[in-house]
Amino acid sequence: MYLSTIGKMKNLFLSALIAMAIPAARIAAQEQDAKDVITFEVGDFLVSTLSEGQQRGKGDVLIGATPEMLRQHLPDGTYPTAVNAFLIRSADQTVLVDAGFGRKLFGNLQSLGVSVGQISAILLTHMHGDHIGGLLHNGKVAFPNARLYLAQAEHDYWTSDKAMQAVPENRRGGFRQARKVIEAYSDSLRLFTPAEAASAEAPSLLPGFWGVAAYGHTPGHAAYLLKSADAQLLIWGDLTHAMSIQLPCPEVAVTYDVDPKAAVESRRRLLEYAAKSKIPVGGMHVAYPSIGHVKANGKGGYEFEAFCTCLGL
Ligand SMILES: [Zn+2]
Repeated sequence: MYLSTIGKMKNLFLSALIAMAIPAARIAAQEQDAKDVITFEVGDFLVSTLSEGQQRGKGDVLIGATPEMLRQHLPDGTYPTAVNAFLIRSADQTVLVDAGFGRKLFGNLQSLGVSVGQISAILLTHMHGDHIGGLLHNGKVAFPNARLYLAQAEHDYWTSDKAMQAVPENRRGGFRQARKVIEAYSDSLRLFTPAEAASAEAPSLLPGFWGVAAYGHTPGHAAYLLKSADAQLLIWGDLTHAMSIQLPCPEVAVTYDVDPKAAVESRRRLLEYAAKSKIPVGGMHVAYPSIGHVKANGKGGYEFEAFCTCLGL
């Protein structure tokens, strides 16, 4: 779907929304109601979630959760999660943030009328397989016209032989997959150093897009701040995996955090930033509808209010 068509449809839906005076519809995160693609506005950007599915994760991946925390926040031992990428469209750019496993990605893009050749840039939060799986198709570049943005520290970690030797053999496949992507996209790779959240007025990566340091889950893990007109959205990558426990208890990490302590520090810092500045957030493992607001719960933790101002596109 080209932007002119999107614009017409958007106006139709917006008129309908305004006429019906529908506030931000709150959607319960019921897995059976989950849609793979929902589209909403952030200023002049059209943002779409591209979900590869909703799941329940198991509590045995958690580090630092006390029996009391588990009883309170994970009573059945599981938590809702998802695997998402995001598509952001404006008049002159079509940007992906991450590429999921690549299982539903191409069908999801097709459902929006977006071809792989239209993607002008891909911003990676980090290089785990559930974020870079869609970048290669039969071993070749899946997005031939896209520049690939990657934090310098992330690039340096996955290309380091020392780092690869430091993990057990059964985790080295991730290094091989990351290196294949880096090699395939070598001509279009743009390495950058993310800013601290508090200094997001740093130079933008692309018009309206800033990289924000969120190191810990992986050494170069980055979030992305979008700004258009007066609207903002923080796409925080893997700042949380088990949100039902990691928001009230940000000190809980997961076994696949490369540096759990740094991951906890990043989570605290960005949750505080999002809550204080009232910036809506979206995440790669935030269950449907995958967007919402973070609020301080008055007990040193946070709570999440999911919402969707879906346009029905
Ligand atoms: Zn992930």
